[in-house]
Amino acid sequence: MIHMELNKRQTEILEIVKLDGPITGEQIAERLNLARATIRPDLAILTMAGYLDARPRVGYFYSGKKPAQSIADGMIGMKVGDFQSIPVVVHENVTVYDAICQMFLDDVGTLFVVDQNSFLTGVLSRKDLLRTSLGNSELDKIPVHVIMTRMPNITYCKKQDSLIQAAKKMIDQQIDSLPVIYVRAEGLEVVGRITKTNITRAFLSLAEEHEL
Ligand code: ADP
Repeated sequence: MIHMELNKRQTEILEIVKLDGPITGEQIAERLNLARATIRPDLAILTMAGYLDARPRVGYFYSGKKPAQSIADGMIGMKVGDFQSIPVVVHENVTVYDAICQMFLDDVGTLFVVDQNSFLTGVLSRKDLLRTSLGNSELDKIPVHVIMTRMPNITYCKKQDSLIQAAKKMIDQQIDSLPVIYVRAEGLEVVGRITKTNITRAFLSLAEEHEL
């Protein structure tokens, strides 16, 4: 199916056929107070583009197909900023014990670690905390900066990035989430969080938007 911008008359024709199809070209023309010949090119375009199907002696009916291009455009247009969640951050000096509590309290799978200026310094995943917990009884003595994955090894994204780029980073790096950051001269400010849940939500919203 070809993607194209429909003009006003083509949109009207599409609406008529959607509501009252199957309907003949003659009847459509009548509804629009136009001559059959006038709308012939529009009908040809709508049929060629795949919006309408035509059957001899039956007339035109709505194909119900969505142009693949419009779905692609929808996907490309999805930005991190439109789907991000609120980030959950902890200070780098909090203990592993407190970080675990924080993870439960905020019901997240990843915590972002920040310094005293609130700039990003690390990431803590569930498994980072589990690993440390195994055979370690001093969780209330170990600060998270000892066990976190630290800068410059943090994969992040920005608000204006496409969600596709963010999803690719997560898959390539085999990680569950990305901090959304705003670059300041002094450091990286954490402004959001993108997780696999956000991507799943975006996937669903795309399907719903296109009535799939
Ligand atoms: P889990 O370990 O709970 O399955 P992840 O797959 O997200 O969660 O994390 C795997 C490892 O990658 C952990 O050591 C974690 O610290 C690290 N990590 C998670 N997110 C990022 C990120 N955005 N950038 C760099 N490292 C990360």
